[in-house]
Amino acid sequence: MSKSQNVFFGIGYCAAIALMALGAIFLMAAPAGTNPGFYITGPIMLGAGVVIIVGIRLRQRVVVEQKVTLKPTQIRELKCKNCHASLSEKDFTIKNDIVIVKCTYCGALYEMTDNPVW
Ligand SMILES: [Zn+2]
Repeated sequence: MSKSQNVFFGIGYCAAIALMALGAIFLMAAPAGTNPGFYITGPIMLGAGVVIIVGIRLRQRVVVEQKVTLKPTQIRELKCKNCHASLSEKDFTIKNDIVIVKCTYCGALYEMTDNPVW
């Protein structure tokens, strides 16, 4: 990931957090009845903040993808949770520090929950 992208993501996160904080304040202030518009502005700001963070996360997910290198002895012990077929090294990918398993036998796609020691 390039440095300019990191800066862009950083600014995006700050803006999103600020939007959500303001939105929450507006929602908390709304029941006081000072301004009925707060009931509309609050959720819009909260929503905008969530959309920005989701957008950034999706962009980062594409960038972070990498290939896993497993020791053959460890692969031998790993089996598909769905069909119990033995899995090979090419069935594993890491996305955002989450190990994704795609079984070549039954096509099952799932995350690895019990973290093996690489
Ligand atoms: Zn399978």
